[in-house]
Amino acid sequence: MPNKVVFLDRDGVINKVAAPHDYIKTWNEFEFFDGVATAIKKLNDAQYIVCIVTNQRGVAQGIMSMEDVNEIHKQMRCELELSGAHLDAIFVCPHENGTCTCRKPQTGMFQQAEAIYQFDKNSSYMVGDSESDILAGKKFGVKTIAITIKEFAADYKCNSLCEAVNYILQEDVK
Ligand SMILES: [Zn+2]
Repeated sequence: MPNKVVFLDRDGVINKVAAPHDYIKTWNEFEFFDGVATAIKKLNDAQYIVCIVTNQRGVAQGIMSMEDVNEIHKQMRCELELSGAHLDAIFVCPHENGTCTCRKPQTGMFQQAEAIYQFDKNSSYMVGDSESDILAGKKFGVKTIAITIKEFAADYKCNSLCEAVNYILQEDVK
């Protein structure tokens, strides 16, 4: 059976987004959506590799440091693991727009995952709430799921990570 990956955007998928033009800078500001740990655990149990791919331009802008981002991720992983859920990897683009090859909608973070894991793109997914997530997933060649009410050209649209995961697992048995 080929390895398969579910790539997850962070803000707007795992946790509530910051106010416009602001960033999640501390663990205090991080608020999980309901059911996220359960959803990720279902993916773990179904043998998916689960990776976060997140743009955090606030680092380039000096609003927060990479240490701040890493601390949030440490706490996030701790919290998830209390519920038996596990993230295999977290990829962060801390760069300014137009200065790198990893900021979504570019695919650099997906290629970082490809350097670590062997997986079948046809059985893999990108789940995101913004157009750059969907564009990046398409460019890389995985299936795309948009958690949004907006009109993105994703392969599937739904309202939450829980719904996205249920869809993935339902497709998996077909
Ligand atoms: Zn970057």
